[in-house]
Amino acid sequence: MAQKLHQPIRMCVVCRERFAQVGLLRLQCRNGKLEPYGKEGRSFYMCRSCIEHKKTPGQLSRQCKSGATVELMNRLKEIIVNDG
Ligand SMILES: [Zn+2]
Repeated sequence: MAQKLHQPIRMCVVCRERFAQVGLLRLQCRNGKLEPYGKEGRSFYMCRSCIEHKKTPGQLSRQCKSGATVELMNRLKEIIVNDG
């Protein structure tokens, strides 16, 4: 019996909707700083339409256990620019 190929689905931490993993930003926090996902450690996903979402600073703050939301948001935008 042929098994259907399925794309991995992940949830955006901001809107909590599920998307194909390939279309999501994969991020992680290291020592309270936001980074693109490296090769190890805990990561989380965000969809691109949530970049300007009002809940995004709060979610980043929660993920990174850091209250520096302005810094986290600036870093997020840098990561997106570098990501293309
Ligand atoms: Zn989202």
